[in-house]
Amino acid sequence: MIKENIARILAELPAGVELVAAAKTRTPEEILEAVQAGIRIIGENYVQEAKRAYEIVGKKAQWHFIGTLQKHNVRVKMLEIFDMIETVDSLEIAKEIDKRCAQIGKVMPILIEINSGRESQKAGVLSENAEQVIKEISSLEHVKVRGLMTMGPRFGNPEDSRPYFIETKRVCERIKSLELPNVEMKCLSMGMTNSYKIALEEGANIVRIGTRIFGERSSL
Ligand SMILES: *Cc1c(COP(=O)(O)O)cnc(C)c1O
Repeated sequence: MIKENIARILAELPAGVELVAAAKTRTPEEILEAVQAGIRIIGENYVQEAKRAYEIVGKKAQWHFIGTLQKHNVRVKMLEIFDMIETVDSLEIAKEIDKRCAQIGKVMPILIEINSGRESQKAGVLSENAEQVIKEISSLEHVKVRGLMTMGPRFGNPEDSRPYFIETKRVCERIKSLELPNVEMKCLSMGMTNSYKIALEEGANIVRIGTRIFGERSSL
């Protein structure tokens, strides 16, 4: 099932778009199966789950952190696993990543998460603050801003997500036009199972898909 799902998605994704398999709550065996079926990037929300899956998948795939990031989660072992952190939303957390990456001689590619729905309970930077935060982060030597990520509000109708994707793309283009040193606005991570087709139409080049690959989640 996982294999067929992945084949179907990969066949329809335009060239240049990366598929991240959003793996929360899945077993290491399911994740390995996905990698064997052609998944090149695993998205993990929880460090503990990532560590478990990493033990059997290792470097057969790349690892993106896509969960809510707290300072106490930023540890050397975690930074060794992940190839990109998609959910940076403050200078403080970027500084923590920078400090720990300096200890292991790594430069971490990061995306800045945009709270495009302006939801008070959601993580992310508001659009109008993105430029300032990115300017501050750009001086750090061991992180490199590579673009933006957004979740957007959850809707039943995917079409309702479109304005939030348009907004995030607009912010991305504006910051790209500033040509800030040490900043490369080339990744735009938007869209999940129910919204990724809309996200692609609005310029996403990374989509994060869980349910359509692995089936419905039983919890969380
Ligand atoms: C769970 C999750 C996804 C994927 O969600 P699905 O609806 O299962 O495709 C994408 N991005 C993030 C940040 C997630 O937590």
